[in-house]
Amino acid sequence: MDPGSVVVMGFVASLCASAGTALGSLGVFTIRRLSRRMEDGLLSLAAGIMLAATFFSLLLPALEYGSEHYDSSLAGPLSVAGGTFLGAAVLFLIHQYVPHEHFSRGREGSDAYKLSRIWLFVTAITLHNFPEGLAVGVGFAGGEVKNGVTLAIGIGLQNIPEGLAVAVALLSVGYTPLRSALIGIASGLVEPVGGLLGAMAVATLESLMPWALAFAAGAMLFVISDEIIPETHNNGNQNLATFTLLGGFILMMLLDTSL
Ligand SMILES: [Zn+2]
Repeated sequence: MDPGSVVVMGFVASLCASAGTALGSLGVFTIRRLSRRMEDGLLSLAAGIMLAATFFSLLLPALEYGSEHYDSSLAGPLSVAGGTFLGAAVLFLIHQYVPHEHFSRGREGSDAYKLSRIWLFVTAITLHNFPEGLAVGVGFAGGEVKNGVTLAIGIGLQNIPEGLAVAVALLSVGYTPLRSALIGIASGLVEPVGGLLGAMAVATLESLMPWALAFAAGAMLFVISDEIIPETHNNGNQNLATFTLLGGFILMMLLDTSL
């Protein structure tokens, strides 16, 4: 497949995945409030889907490409290990320098304080949509349409609860349902940007493929471990969170192996 179609497919697929965010954001018109328990359960479900996508659609193909591209049996796995670490390290650095709030919406305080916390939460979700877009884009590496489409479906699915969480949070501080939904939709538009960049990287430089897939995997693992798991286990809902994460993982694993 020519590099141009890889780029187009990566971009279009990540745009489709961000439709999940839009769908979830529009949910604010019917679901006006999420209990803490519901939010923890839903965000954990999203994390489970992300986790399985990381393994089955990013790391496994990365290891396959790695062994194809390098002659020595050690260089492939090592480049995947290096890429994974790099992805997590870059996300770590971004988190150090970009002000954001972890997914937790924090204590209720003065209105201005609460408002700024909500905006930091929106920033956190927006930031984590970038590696997700990147994952979808690099998923098309080597013209692997099936892998890219599976990733887009998985990421699109887990975007639904994330979009809903953003829009409901904005509604709770006094934004109108329409504005809450529109800002939620906008938070998902980072995804096609990541998708375009990821697809361009693997389309132009084939030797980058194991690195790029592993990089996206490391970035996703960082977000799951640094944000979603701690925050969803912080409010007494850890049993529910563990099992919805497991449910999401199984769902994505089945999706990946049955498509
Ligand atoms: Zn996510």
